[in-house]
Amino acid sequence: MSRGGRVLLIIHDVYQEDNIFPLGPAYIASALKASGAEVTVACQDVFHYSNEELVRRYLQNGSYDLIGVGFMAARFKETVLDLCEVINQYKGGAWLVLGAHGPSSIPEYMIKTTGADIVAIGDAEETMVDLLKCKIAGGNDISNVDGIAFRSGDGVVVNKRREPSRQLDRFPFPAWEIFPMKDYADCVGLKGMEEGGKVLAVITGRGCTNRCNFCYRMESGIRLRSINNVIEEMKILYQQYGVRHFNMQDELFISSRRRLLEFRDALKSAGLKITFNCDARVDIFDEEIAHTLAECGCVFLNFGLESSDQNVLNAMGKRTTVEQNIKAVRIAKKTGVGIGLNFLWGNIGDTEASLKSNVRLIRELNTYYHLRTIRPVTPYPGCDLYYEAIRRGLLSGPEDFFERFKNSDLLTVNFTDIPEKQFYESLFNVNKELIIDHYEHTAGDMKEANHLIEQFYNLYFKGEYKFRGARHYDRKQEKVGGRK
Ligand code: SF4
Repeated sequence: MSRGGRVLLIIHDVYQEDNIFPLGPAYIASALKASGAEVTVACQDVFHYSNEELVRRYLQNGSYDLIGVGFMAARFKETVLDLCEVINQYKGGAWLVLGAHGPSSIPEYMIKTTGADIVAIGDAEETMVDLLKCKIAGGNDISNVDGIAFRSGDGVVVNKRREPSRQLDRFPFPAWEIFPMKDYADCVGLKGMEEGGKVLAVITGRGCTNRCNFCYRMESGIRLRSINNVIEEMKILYQQYGVRHFNMQDELFISSRRRLLEFRDALKSAGLKITFNCDARVDIFDEEIAHTLAECGCVFLNFGLESSDQNVLNAMGKRTTVEQNIKAVRIAKKTGVGIGLNFLWGNIGDTEASLKSNVRLIRELNTYYHLRTIRPVTPYPGCDLYYEAIRRGLLSGPEDFFERFKNSDLLTVNFTDIPEKQFYESLFNVNKELIIDHYEHTAGDMKEANHLIEQFYNLYFKGEYKFRGARHYDRKQEKVGGRK
């Protein structure tokens, strides 16, 4: 056995072919490796290993100290619960550690429901290293490890939160060498990127300056890597892995004009001719930012516009205006980049009128880069809307949430005055309109459009929950997943 300990990180399946490189586990793996651990990754997302195959390949004969699984709440019932049952059966003496946004805000519930030993809350690089040290020291005393919750007898102990590191440059680059890089780099394709070019994910900062009521981030504020550190990482991906398109995974990639200009200059000095996609907020977006992004190689901008109704934007704490939304998209359109128009409906203050005006705005601003439909807002555990739902008596807690949550295109909690049946009828009508509009503008196959409309119908009215949503369906237009 490795003196530094053995860790298995499992990347659970998401049942699609366009898998984004799992940066979180890759950062954790590099921190563990730097501490002397032997780290193995099991990528169920890429290889679609069943849990039985996972047992055969990794669990049956492996002897690990820690087994880590990170996940979002939306995947809990569908995938993670069964996975944990299997891990518990075969983990031997290992500790099962859950992490990421899914379990972080509701660790007691997660430990009780899954039988996991520990939840790592928030950033987990340092937490996992500390846990491994405790484990290989042979002691079970983890009471001094910050940022965890752990099972103790019949109860759960939640330790003090770990202060998130502000010095992100301290973390070693992701442990790419232990991941099936070719599979990740080849499976995502976006319009505007070099034909056959490889795509990988990078994150230049963690967190966001805002706090929208549906966002499940737990830390406030933004923490940034230095641009030099980011460019060094991009150079390695460019030179060693042939990456030409970067998927910027930041929640807020453009946090300031100065930083974006610094990024542009550093890219030029490094001679990196790349394309990339990123998310942007509309409030600081202007001509200079749009042109700088295009100059840097940005081919796709994802805007979280969320609503065309100012009262709804205010209620969700978006801190933007409808005018800013419209202005930002009009400016971005002039540069020719692809634009993602993200709208949610069903937040506090939403009405039939706000739904209709959302559709009008999408149709007015649409670049038809990819198919846009509207989803109901989901109050994921940890976000302000989740606690508001509890306060209003609309939700009793995590168990109730997971009982109700079936699919992110369905209502989990109704914050409007609209009866549920009418809510779905209205949503169905507007999504049907948006699908037809998209296929007409892109000269798409109307048979495909009708099939998609039927899937929405079956989801809303017949409980066929397996539907993965319009964007994964829309592969031809977006060229996602078509190259594997
Ligand atoms: S702007 Fe985006 S990342 Fe920031 S709080 Fe809102 S939803 Fe979350």
